[in-house]
Amino acid sequence: MSKVIYPGSFDPVTYGHLDIIKRSASMFEEVIVGVLSNSAKNPLFTLEERTEMIEDAVKDFDNVKVINFDGLLIDYMKKNDISVIVRGLRAVTDFEYELQIAQSNRKVSKDTIDTVFLTTSIDYAYLSSSIVKEYARYGTDVSEFVPGNVAIRLKEKLN
Ligand code: ADP
Repeated sequence: MSKVIYPGSFDPVTYGHLDIIKRSASMFEEVIVGVLSNSAKNPLFTLEERTEMIEDAVKDFDNVKVINFDGLLIDYMKKNDISVIVRGLRAVTDFEYELQIAQSNRKVSKDTIDTVFLTTSIDYAYLSSSIVKEYARYGTDVSEFVPGNVAIRLKEKLN
């Protein structure tokens, strides 16, 4: 349980994600942030950009490492000897999807992989990467929601 992976698309990373990373880092010895490269979501930022933005935001945490992976999460986990996934739960709407993924990961891994859920801080409960992109697209200031470098990159990308 000392090493956990927090997977996602992080397109881009928000203060909501960073809150989950920070809290995981205080609970577990090592937190691997796993940036998904084969996202079906047609991301705005490239894998390298998404990875760099997180790296920049977590550089002060000694026990957080950012990696990216292709293919199935559980294959990456098996290869790297990780058995616990961390995910964030914002609202009831996240629940059904997260439950399904967590149960199928457990089934496919023959009960060797478990998922731990952290409930979002109230401050970030409404926050998602999609909402941030939507605001940025229309020129709204997003500095409340994402780190400064991410806000700059959003502006560059969308204008
Ligand atoms: P995915 O592409 O896998 O849905 P995201 O990059 O959107 O992933 O999010 C990764 C994880 O972070 C998910 O567990 C998601 O529920 C969680 N998350 C996203 N936004 C927030 C937030 N505002 N507060 C807490 N957790 C969040």
